[in-house]
Amino acid sequence: MSPAAETQSRRALTVTLPCTRCQTPITHDLSKAELCCPQCGQQIGLHLSEKLQREGIVESCVVCQCPQVYERSDLHPRFGMMVAALACVISFILFALDQVILAFAVLVVATLFDWLLYRWLGKVVCCYRCEAEYRNYNRQGRYPGFDLALKERYAPLTTGTTEDPVQGWRQY
Ligand SMILES: [Zn+2]
Ligand SMILES: [Zn+2]
Repeated sequence: MSPAAETQSRRALTVTLPCTRCQTPITHDLSKAELCCPQCGQQIGLHLSEKLQREGIVESCVVCQCPQVYERSDLHPRFGMMVAALACVISFILFALDQVILAFAVLVVATLFDWLLYRWLGKVVCCYRCEAEYRNYNRQGRYPGFDLALKERYAPLTTGTTEDPVQGWRQY
């Protein structure tokens, strides 16, 4: 796509998911219903609702048809935790070396860094069951925050064991 065409089409609603066969992360533009893994050629069926196609509102997962999704920061939770853990270790060492001010400074900088990343990266809608991620969706939809009880309800999920993931998930 040329740069001009890219700016014209504005940011398209996309879904990101691991390929059901080779686990390669795929980001797919949802204006196209056909999803084919660029790595292994696996066809993945998508279930695009009218509301999603017309308004860009994500009400259910297009990959596994899970009826519930949640909204979270686009900052990967594990990455945020890694930054916090690293800052704790460094400041602990600095405390041990009697560098109290520096130790506090490390904690403040790490918190600020997480906050800035959080602001900069924006939000993402996720599926409870298959953890597909949606970006550039219509913000006017209702997107509840993460609910651990719902996560447990839709788990466990064994990906990569069936050729057609939807077939396995429908049993729940
Ligand atoms: Zn693949
Ligand atoms: Zn899903």
